[in-house]
Amino acid sequence: MKRLVLLGGGHAHVHVLDALARTPLPDTEVTLVSPYPRQLYSGMLPGWIAGHYTLEALAIALTPLAERAGIRWKPARASGLDLDARTVLCDDGARIAFDWLSIDTGPTTDPGPISGSARHALPVRPIEDFVTRIDTLITAAGHAPGPPTALIGSGAAGFELALALRARLPQLPLALIGAAAAPLDGFPARLQRRARRLLDQRNIRWIGQRRATRIDADGVWLDNGQHVAAGHVLQVTGAAAPGWPVDAGLATDAGGFIRVGPSLQSVSHPFIFAAGDIAAYADPRPKSGVFAVRAGPPLADNLRRAIHGEPLRDWQPQSRALYLISTGDRRAMAAWGSLSAEGAWVWRWKDHIDRAFMRRFAHHGG
Ligand SMILES: Cc1cc2nc3c(=O)[nH]c(=O)nc-3n(C[C@H](O)[C@H](O)[C@H](O)COP(=O)(O)OP(=O)(O)OC[C@H]3O[C@@H](n4cnc5c(N)ncnc54)[C@H](O)[C@@H]3O)c2cc1C
Repeated sequence: MKRLVLLGGGHAHVHVLDALARTPLPDTEVTLVSPYPRQLYSGMLPGWIAGHYTLEALAIALTPLAERAGIRWKPARASGLDLDARTVLCDDGARIAFDWLSIDTGPTTDPGPISGSARHALPVRPIEDFVTRIDTLITAAGHAPGPPTALIGSGAAGFELALALRARLPQLPLALIGAAAAPLDGFPARLQRRARRLLDQRNIRWIGQRRATRIDADGVWLDNGQHVAAGHVLQVTGAAAPGWPVDAGLATDAGGFIRVGPSLQSVSHPFIFAAGDIAAYADPRPKSGVFAVRAGPPLADNLRRAIHGEPLRDWQPQSRALYLISTGDRRAMAAWGSLSAEGAWVWRWKDHIDRAFMRRFAHHGG
């Protein structure tokens, strides 16, 4: 009997679970190690905050998927790997042996050089914790005008979250802090200008070209000495790698993300595969759910091939991704390379794509 361990129930692994439910692997015992019985789909998270979706609408139930595939679920978080013993070390002290390991654990929120963030900030990851704490914030602010809330990080996720919070809490004083001159750094200039105007229209204070250096109980200190008063500080400062891949001795890129070849196999340890944001692809791509989702089918195929001793297939991620950025009002912006668009139809398009993704993993009862 061979042992395959799936670490994390991320966007690529939900496809692997589904593929294994459809066509089980003979003579292979499969274990899913995941701290939660569900995977929250980040693409719909701002829509949940804005009040457009229930939490159930963005939850992929991992345990029924695993059950259908005859896979054991180990509720734990990996805290390390022993590569010589081929063992996953779990945060509850358990050790899980494997012959093959596939990793799709996503990133952590990059704390950056901001002191006090561990104590005072609310990082967007783990998303399960974020959702619980945001729910508390929304409930409290619904009863009384809450203390000002600041968001650090003005990429697509930070921008979407700011507008979603505004849609849900029209009276909440909100500030968005970003290092670039306009929000949506890296997106077409037209979208950046539009994003900037939207912040003004929605009464969200924009603090651009500033880096947060310290967070305390009263708010955020910036690199020019300015203090931004805030009772809550949400941190959306991008994706960082957890420490355990480097500590285990896996080959990683400079950021600590696991280096994989075109077959998604670790370049240093061929019995390990990685996909999604935790992976540094041979042909690098931005950290984005699109590439995690797209890696699912080649990962499922190559895990099967590896276990059967067949040659692996190379995967070439698409060169660019379509970004659909919701603006809290059932409208959205689209960016595809240098092309951009905006409108209610873009939101309907995004909503359609997101719901179709969720339907693929809905539990059909067998
Ligand atoms: C607010 C927000 C909105 C976003 N919107 C979009 C969007 O519209 N489009 C887009 O392309 N991208 C979007 N992103 C980016 C997207 O979330 C990530 O790129 C995507 O989640 C990466 O998928 P993944 O499978 O690598 O990891 P994840 O989705 O993070 O999944 C990892 C899973 O592994 C589990 N896990 C973590 N650590 C461990 C461990 N040590 N042991 C075991 N299990 C573990 C986690 O609980 C989680 O279930 C958004 C991000 C945010 C924060």
